[in-house]
Order: sequence, then C-alpha cells, then structure tokens
Amino acid sequence: MTPTHIFYIIIGILVFDFLLERILGFLNYTWYSKPIPRELTDVYKHEEYEKSQEYKKTNFKFGLISSSVSFIGIMIFLYFKGFAIIDELARNYAENQIVVALFFFGIITAASELLSLSFSIYGIFVIEEKFGFNKTTVKTFIFDKIKGYFLTAILGGGILSLIILCYGWAGANFWWYVWILITAISLFMNMFYAKLFVPLFNKQAPLEEGELKNKISDYAATVGFHLDQIFVIDGSKRSTKANAYFSGFGSEKRVTLYDTLIEQLSEEEIVAVLAHEVGHYKRKHIIYNLIAGTLTTGFTLWLFSLFVDSNLLSEALGVAVPSFHIGLVAFGLLYSPISTLTGIIMSLLSRRFEYQADYYAKDTYKKEPLISGLKTLSKTSLSNLTPHPAYVWFYFSHPSLQQRIAAMDSGVIY
Ligand SMILES: [Zn+2]
Repeated sequence: MTPTHIFYIIIGILVFDFLLERILGFLNYTWYSKPIPRELTDVYKHEEYEKSQEYKKTNFKFGLISSSVSFIGIMIFLYFKGFAIIDELARNYAENQIVVALFFFGIITAASELLSLSFSIYGIFVIEEKFGFNKTTVKTFIFDKIKGYFLTAILGGGILSLIILCYGWAGANFWWYVWILITAISLFMNMFYAKLFVPLFNKQAPLEEGELKNKISDYAATVGFHLDQIFVIDGSKRSTKANAYFSGFGSEKRVTLYDTLIEQLSEEEIVAVLAHEVGHYKRKHIIYNLIAGTLTTGFTLWLFSLFVDSNLLSEALGVAVPSFHIGLVAFGLLYSPISTLTGIIMSLLSRRFEYQADYYAKDTYKKEPLISGLKTLSKTSLSNLTPHPAYVWFYFSHPSLQQRIAAMDSGVIY
C-alpha cells in the first residue's frame, strides 16, 4: 500500500458517501407525493399539506445545492493538497506540536465555517422564514455564532491539546488514556449540560405551579417517578418548532419542555409526551446510549492508535512532515464507512427505544393523547408523512409517525 493508494481510497470514500446520501435523498423525494396513510389523514388540512410538500421540496433542493458545493470544495481542496498548505502555514507561526495542531484545526474550522455560514443564513432567514418557522433575530443569530465559536475554541482546543499531550507522553498507548478522558468529559457534560450550557443560549425557569404541573405530578406519582425538576425553556426565541427532552441522571435528572410545546399541545398531550420521556428513563435508555457511545469511542481510538505512528497517512495527504494532527485528519476521512455503519446501528437502537418509550406512555398513561400530540407536532413542523423506508432505515432516530401509531395500535409489547 502506497500513500497514493490511500489518497485514492479517501477520494473513493468521499464520492461513495456523497452519492449514497444523494440517492437516499432522491428516493425519499420520490415518495413525497405518495398518498397519505389512512391513519394520518387528519394531520393536515389540504392547504397545510400543500405547504408541507413545498417545504420538503425546497429543503431537498437546498440540500442538493449546499452538499454539492461542499463536496466540490473538498475535492478541489484535496486535489491542491490543501492540508499540506495549511500545515505549512501553521508551522510558519509555531514550533510546538500542540500549537501547530491548534493553528491547523483553527484555520480548517474557520474556512469550513465561512463556507457553511452563507448556507445557514439562507436556511434560517430565507427558507425557515418563508414557511413561518423562524423567530431568530439577526442579533440572536450573531450572538449564538459568537458563543458557539468560543465554546468550540475552548472545549475543542482544550480537548485536542490534552489528546496530543497524552500522545506525547504515552505514544501509541495514548488511546487508553484519551478514552478515559473523553468518557469523563461526556459524563460530566451529560450531567451538567442543563446547568452549564443551556443558560448560555436560553432562558429556563421551573414550570409554574398550576393545573399542568399538578397533572404532571399526579402522573409521576402513579409510576413512582421522582420528578421535581421540570423546566420550561424559551425555544420560541429561535423557532416555532416544539420539543421536550430528558437530561442528566441521578440527582441532576430533569425534564425540559419548550415553551412552544406548552403553547401547541393540550395539557393531557403534554403529560403523554412526558410519560414517553419518563419511559426513556425507566427503560435505562440514557445509560445504554452512554455505554454504546463509550464503546464506539474506545473502538475508534484503538483503531486510530494502530495507524498513528505510520507516515503513510500523512504522506497520503501530501504532507512531508508526519504529525499527529495530519494522521488524525486522514484517519477521520478513512473512518467514514465505519462511522456510517455505527450510525446505522445507533439509529436502529434509537428507533427501538422510541417504540419502548411510546409503549411505556401507552401502558402507564394513555395512547390517545400521545398520538394526537405527535400529530400536532408533525403538523406544526410540516414534517414528512411519507418518508421512504430506506431513508428511515439509514437516518431516522425516530420511527415514522405512521410506524409509531401502528405500533401503539398493534398491542405488541416492546
Ligand atoms: Zn423519545
């Protein structure tokens, strides 16, 4: 195997990924005009459905353009040995391995952000705006971006520096230490995400005393669930789309409801959505996801450790001086088929968990308000009622609405 072989394998993988995504997207596109399943005919009124069709088509075309531009950009970048150019540039300013790596990734991140910025502006302020979803002001957008950059620089830069330190210290055995480090960080993030990071972007307040809170407490009592931390977040600051999620565990576990969810659903429907979230907790999905994520990280790091000392990866990208950060980039590109595979497995697992959580809500509360709540959420986000099965299989973390309703109606125990 020569560096040239590896270079062509990288190109092959990028082309394959791009084509696979486009083909799946196109298959899904051909299903947009399928007749609406019988159990979903009451989701949209006629003109709302037409609007949702237009929303899907607009997003499909937009995705086609933005992904093609990115793909062509990466190809040109690789053809002109872009990584070697940036590596050299970084080495002009620094000698320390860690500083060079920080410069290197800093430049790459900035360049790719510049490329994607115009697309995200168009997506939010033109497409989402046109379909009535956007609530983000220019000011919020700019502040979000700046805060995001700071977080990326501090967290990303910090973690990268620690990884390279580990490598300098332990050589190819570094993966073992980095694995522990990343696991500790992700546990910490999971635990304190709501306390540390959410306040940077949103206002959150405990759910006010009242009818809704009583209904939730009554339900929680029937399933013996200790739920004293229910928070409402101002999701309406950015979008009309609604959501609810569970985070943390142990004493830090809490449920977060978007204010848009409270606006759009009836109290019974909100309790049903919450029962679904409690189901995730009771069936230990959060723990399983953490374990699966930890195992995948360990496997990835171990695999990387097998290649990290070889010059092949650096040479494949046209870089004369081998280094940890170039090896990391080349490995990241080569790893993509494996991450596609682990992504599919994680989606399969996640969809299974969704069925289980739906079943839990049906079993401990009621299925009707959950179904009607899910229908309203589909309607208000103009979501696709007829996704292509192959598209669902590859990408969906949740089963389609039709599948979820069928599962709840079937009486099968998940
Ligand atoms: Zn769920």
